[in-house]
Amino acid sequence: MSNTTTKPDRIDRAVEIIRAGNKILKVDYYSNGGQVWFVESSDAKKNYRVTEQGCTCPDARNGICKHQWATAGANAAMLIFKMRQAGGLLALFEMAELHAAALAGLPVGFLRVARDEYRQAKTRLIERITFDKGVAA
Ligand SMILES: [Zn+2]
Repeated sequence: MSNTTTKPDRIDRAVEIIRAGNKILKVDYYSNGGQVWFVESSDAKKNYRVTEQGCTCPDARNGICKHQWATAGANAAMLIFKMRQAGGLLALFEMAELHAAALAGLPVGFLRVARDEYRQAKTRLIERITFDKGVAA
């Protein structure tokens, strides 16, 4: 995998945080409209302060962390999660078309990962079609 901006399992873990419903404790707003979230750590011993730009957890040094995906990038995380499970190209195209607008305001790092995931999903589905029809590579 050439994707160095995020580990694949960060998306899965972000979706777990979103679905848990009680890990994202509080949201503040900056006067400039930016948002700050407080997200409980996995061991529930501390809270991380999360924005679009960063997070106080150790993993945020390596790229967009699961806490950022679960808050600022929640729409993108859910889209990526669904794209990974897409059963066909049409479903994938529809997902991308439906949700692309919701991602418009995100920082470019999130969009780059979403775009890479879209391309990977598309490639996976195209290759599957080729194999299904018995066409030798
Ligand atoms: Zn974090």
